[in-house]
Amino acid sequence: MQHPQHHGGHGHHHHHHHHPQQQQTDSDLDHTHYHDHNHHHHHDHNEAEPADREAEGEDAPNTPSYLRPPVAGRAQSDSGSDSVFPQSRSVEFDLPSSSGPSRPKSPWGLFDPYYNNEDQDKEYVGFATLPNQVHRKSVKKGFDFTLMVAGESGLGKSTLVNSLFLTDLYKDRKLLNAEERIMQTVEITKHTVDIEEKGVKLKLTIVDTPGFGDAVNNHECWKPVADYIDQQFEQYFRDESGLNRKNIQDNRVHCCLYFISPFGHGLRPLDVEFMKALHEKVNIVPVLAKADTLTPTEVKRKKIKIREEIEQYGIKIYQFPDCDSDEDEDFKKQDYELKESIPFAVIGSNTVVEAKGKRVRGRLYPWGIVEVENSAHCDFVKLRNMLVRSHMQDLKDVTRECHYENYRAHCIQSMTRMVVKERNRNKLTRESGTDFPIPAGPTGPESETEKLIREKDEELRRMQEMLTRIQNNMSSQNEAF
Ligand code: GDP
Repeated sequence: MQHPQHHGGHGHHHHHHHHPQQQQTDSDLDHTHYHDHNHHHHHDHNEAEPADREAEGEDAPNTPSYLRPPVAGRAQSDSGSDSVFPQSRSVEFDLPSSSGPSRPKSPWGLFDPYYNNEDQDKEYVGFATLPNQVHRKSVKKGFDFTLMVAGESGLGKSTLVNSLFLTDLYKDRKLLNAEERIMQTVEITKHTVDIEEKGVKLKLTIVDTPGFGDAVNNHECWKPVADYIDQQFEQYFRDESGLNRKNIQDNRVHCCLYFISPFGHGLRPLDVEFMKALHEKVNIVPVLAKADTLTPTEVKRKKIKIREEIEQYGIKIYQFPDCDSDEDEDFKKQDYELKESIPFAVIGSNTVVEAKGKRVRGRLYPWGIVEVENSAHCDFVKLRNMLVRSHMQDLKDVTRECHYENYRAHCIQSMTRMVVKERNRNKLTRESGTDFPIPAGPTGPESETEKLIREKDEELRRMQEMLTRIQNNMSSQNEAF
């Protein structure tokens, strides 16, 4: 657990808290799992004025005040303070404010898009603050990201992950002796850390696939990994179709760093098999492990060879989104360089060494030091920037829109097939041709809306039934293993 850094520079947000024009309601979604972690953080409220504090209410005592919604205008019965105002305060935002009726003061302070605007006479509705509202909500909720590492054991997966996120995820990992290693099948472990930077919380989950390639029999060693990814989709699909969708735990894997050995000639058959088994389920980002064991020329050649092989074998790795043609040249260059870096040549190290008077993460050799974060030495920084700074959201979007959507479509397809089969078996006396026979409506006229609602209800009920059946099916299959 990393402890949060405290930043006191948010005072300007407080100035506008009392303005009642913004009536904002918190959806229940705001009260997600992050609150469980809040007791670890001791937020500094010193800069909040007493009045501010009172207005903040008791609903989220540990949320930093700059992340809270403006509360004025909301009934304060839960705050316990003797409110001077009657309960029904919903009309309050109609009251004229000191800054004039068309220009309400906003809670966004300096970040208000209307702040410092030249054309003061123009009237605005105010929706340019929508990005701010989204921003506030997501910051409050926190972010999550699930990264999987895969590849032969001993290629430096855990070392790299620790270097990537500056945490020691594996402090209590026990090393297996040779005998245990051979016995070990692919066992998947999950580590979660909460990290916080500048008030932004990230729940990072690392899914490790240790022992991969250790076992003598590597036949279908990708299977448990593929199953794991599917299980996370399945869980999400169930939760999403269930009754309580508010607090869904999303464990879908957003990215898989696939480690390629620096000692082979390009990809090995196992690498090809593994990536092909996973490429429709997860965003694969190939990395060339232990790049410090290769000369720069070798790195260059290997990268080209591996990229060719990826193409040749039809492996679909994660594609960086194309940048728009109107993007500036710098951006285009960066984008090109990123694409040329595949597979990222990486070096990991858990030790800090001294290089040119500075303490850096690196590896000390008799002939010198390789620095993990030196872009002349490897692509580590490029990889981290890609994962964290530039493409984390895209990786999540692609997971949701592509990989999960695929899974979901398959699921629904097999559900439909099952229903059709069932229906044929039951020899339902409906006209054939439709997968979902609509039962004959009640006699008498029925409005279009009523009909639609009834149909929706029916559909929902059927979906629930199917789901139960599929779940039963799945669990009986699991038991068979
Ligand atoms: P994992 O089994 O893939 O998780 O591999 P580990 O992270 O446990 O690393 C295995 C060994 O390789 C350890 O002795 C590490 O110190 C070493 N190692 C890790 N990363 C690198 C690297 O980038 N270069 C070199 N030369 N050795 C590394």
